[in-house]
Amino acid sequence: MLTLRCPACGVMADETELAPGGEAHLTREGPGSTDEAFEAYLFLRKNPRGVHFERWRHAMGCGKWFHAARCTVTLEVFGTYPAQTSGPPEEILAAIEARRPGWQG
Ligand SMILES: [Zn+2]
Repeated sequence: MLTLRCPACGVMADETELAPGGEAHLTREGPGSTDEAFEAYLFLRKNPRGVHFERWRHAMGCGKWFHAARCTVTLEVFGTYPAQTSGPPEEILAAIEARRPGWQG
């Protein structure tokens, strides 16, 4: 079972307490964007085999959204961090590099 630490309240939450929110760090496109950029925002996702950055919501707890970095193959969790970031923090990238030398996001 997947267990993630909610960075908002600090609770270790089982996946039954969480709601998935898809890929993290998407660039939101609006009325001024091109059709191609808006299509990519709506439909195109990385769906990697390996390290992935995801949005999760602590639905059965504090209700806050957060991001998690984990491996989609092994379910290894590299860390969680607040959703109010435009990219993964340095300590998360360092944790990934330590366990996946040569990884390139
Ligand atoms: Zn929480």
